[in-house]
Parts: sequence; structure tokens; C-alpha cells
Amino acid sequence: MTAHVIDGARYARDLRGALSREVAELAAQGSLPGLATVVAGDSYPAHAYERRVRSLAEKLGLYYVREALPAEVTEADALAVIGKLGADPRVSGILVLRPLPPQVSEAALYRALDPLKDIEAVHPVNAGLLELGRARFVPSTPASAFHLLDRYLIESGRDPEEVYACSNVVVVGRSQNVGKPAITLAMERGATVVSCDVNSHRCGLLYEHTRNADILVVATGVPGLVSGEHVKRGVIAVDVGINPVSDPDTGKVRLVGDLDFDSVADRAEAVTPVPGGVGPITDVWLLRNAIDAARLATGLASTRPLTEGLWLATADS
Ligand code: NAD
Repeated sequence: MTAHVIDGARYARDLRGALSREVAELAAQGSLPGLATVVAGDSYPAHAYERRVRSLAEKLGLYYVREALPAEVTEADALAVIGKLGADPRVSGILVLRPLPPQVSEAALYRALDPLKDIEAVHPVNAGLLELGRARFVPSTPASAFHLLDRYLIESGRDPEEVYACSNVVVVGRSQNVGKPAITLAMERGATVVSCDVNSHRCGLLYEHTRNADILVVATGVPGLVSGEHVKRGVIAVDVGINPVSDPDTGKVRLVGDLDFDSVADRAEAVTPVPGGVGPITDVWLLRNAIDAARLATGLASTRPLTEGLWLATADS
């Protein structure tokens, strides 16, 4: 393996340290940030994510509340919970976990969020602001992918602005919560951007584009979709995928990404691992957004531009 392995856990620790100082400062000013999560039904990944976020919120000293709704909750009742959290002054940020039960419309819940507490930028106003390059909040997963890229480029002694300007950035996956905002973040950085999805694969176009990528971001949920033969030598590759796969021999479940790590690492300049790459940053970034939301709510001056994640997010800010 020749690639540099980008250590997401280290960057997550840096960010976390900065955030705990910010929480203490805000608490001293009487503006303790608060996070609310809304989880409906029994989805294992949703509950696992909720537990991780709760543990981090508690470690950082935020106010935390969890609304666990039964799988048979009505849309009206779910909307009432969103309204209640919107009116609660202890809650600065709200996270609605997916998947929701089929009778509850995701779009209806997102529209009901107070846009100033919508820390994943799923309300149409915040999604629009992000598209316009004036984001109030940058969704945590794509923000984390670009946080790792930005930090890696800076630490390897390059001018990120120049690198992005001269790069083909290829984003594979086009979901509302990951792929699409990642495309926006790449465009905001001035890159030449290509977006691929399942159709690109079906129609035989995918690997033509991945082979042309200087920077590759993969977020599909397809284990090992992109391997060494599909990338150019010297690519910087960010793997967002988190896929549980069971070992056919032992039956043990382990997590793998959307990249075939070993073969990509043989050709890449740098690559993020799974686990230990984008994942660790994502939870911290969500909390960071809840802290920014507390500042927004009180009109307190930010110690950093609120839209910083749109462009260069620095570890010590
Ligand atoms: P999604 O299912 O909502 O979207 C998947 C996207 O990938 C779609 O645009 C689809 O067209 C595309 N796609 C599917 N198969 C493809 C193929 N064969 N070729 C090309 N494109 C293909 O998924 P999502 O919510 O965007 O999540 C994607 C992955 O990222 C999943 O593995 C998920 O677990 C992971 N994820 C990680 C984090 C994190 O913190 N690291 C957060 C969210 C999601």
C-alpha cells in the first residue's frame, strides 16, 4: 500500500476539543446549546446513531433530549413533537433520524422544523441557502468529507483553493442528505464537478468518470463499488459508505466502505478508511451545528463564520 491513510479519528478529536471549550463559554453566558433527536420505530441503525450522538452530547456538556416515538405514531403526533421541540428554548438543534415509518412523511416533518434549529439543513429554506452558497448549516456527513479533504490538503503543504480549482471532483451517489450537498460543497470550492449515480453504473458510464477523478467522493452504500482499477494513480479518495458485511467463514459482521480499500490504496495518494475516516467526524460536526444554532438563537457573536464549513473548516476554530 502506498497511500496516506487519512485519520478521521484524529481530526474528530481536534474538533471535539475545540467544541467543548465553546460549550463551556456559551454555558457561562447562559446559552447552553441543546440537542433534540427524534427517532420513530425500531430501526437499528437509527437507534445506534442516536446512542452515539447522545453519548457525545453528554460528554460535551450539551442539554440533550430524545423523543422516541412508536412505529405506529401518526404523522399528526410526530408533527406535534417537532412543534414542541421548536418551541423549547433549551433545544437549539433538532435531528430527525431516518428511516421514518411509512405513514409519516419525511418532507412534512422537515417542513415543520424551525429553520433556525434545522442542523442538518433539511428544511427547504436551509437546503436552498446551501445551494445558493449562503448556508446556515452544512449537513454533517458531506461537511465531514470535505473537512477531511481540506485538512489533508493543508497538512500536506498545498493551497486547497488552488488544488480544488484545478481538480476534477467526482461524487458517486446523489442522495439528498449526502451526495447532493457534497456536489454543492465541491462546486463552492471551485472544482470541476461530476455527479454519478446508479444510472451511471447501469449505463456503463461510472468508471469512465471515476478514472478521471483527481478527488473522488463515494457515497452509495454499495460495498467495494470502486476498486483500484477504477481510479487514476494519485487520486485522493474519500469513502463515505458504511456497510455491514458478514464474513462467509466466521459469520462475524464488520463494516466496510464503498471503496475496495486495499486496491484503491495501492494507487491513491491518500484515502480515508472505513471505519475511522468520515464516520468519526460526522457526529462531532452535528454537535458543532447545534452549538452554532445556540449562537444563532441568542444572537451571540460567533467565534467563526457560521458558514465556514461551506469552504475551509479549520480544526482549531
Ligand atoms: P442513499 O441510499 O440515500 O443514496 C445512495 C446513492 O447512491 C443514490 O444516489 C444512488 O443512485 C447511488 N447508487 C446506488 N448504487 C449505485 C451504483 N451501483 N453505482 C453508482 N451509484 C449508486 O444512501 P446515503 O444516505 O447517501 O448513504 C450512502 C452511504 O453512506 C451508505 O453506505 C451510508 O451508510 C453511508 N453514510 C455514512 C455516513 C457517515 O457518517 N460516514 C452518514 C450517512 C450515510
